[in-house]
Amino acid sequence: MNCKAISILLLGVVSFSCNQQQETGQHTSLKGEDTLIFPRGEKITNNNFTGAAWLKGLIDADSVNQTSVGSVTFEPGARTKWHSHPAGQIILALDGIGYYQEKGSPKFIVKKGDAVKCPPDVPHWHGASPDTKFVQVAVTGREKGETVWLDAVTDEEYNN
Ligand code: MN
Repeated sequence: MNCKAISILLLGVVSFSCNQQQETGQHTSLKGEDTLIFPRGEKITNNNFTGAAWLKGLIDADSVNQTSVGSVTFEPGARTKWHSHPAGQIILALDGIGYYQEKGSPKFIVKKGDAVKCPPDVPHWHGASPDTKFVQVAVTGREKGETVWLDAVTDEEYNN
């Protein structure tokens, strides 16, 4: 086999592996609906949130990456309940102005471009500010179990 034939063969192998990866990997299209980067997804109907919020699941946890990744869009005033993550969470703010608060600490403003690290097992909440929506990507460790949901964030706590 000459050099050219080997190159063509290698090229074939490489493009075959790329195709394989696309077929078996989880891929989310960037063709959005009405949000900046990811589609808004489905309206959240469980009672772990106050106000209207939407979730677009991007990556499910599996044996290779034990984290789930999802984009959440909070309409103004919407927020999660107090909750904690057994393996922690990272929040990447994509758009708008939101709030983040850990139990016992003042809430702080999170805005587009901010990244927040929530320590494992620390009760906290996150959501939009009263007048501006908030879009976040949450990267949540799943290796130590599911999110633990606690009480709702009262209006007093939210406005404090
Ligand atoms: Mn959280």
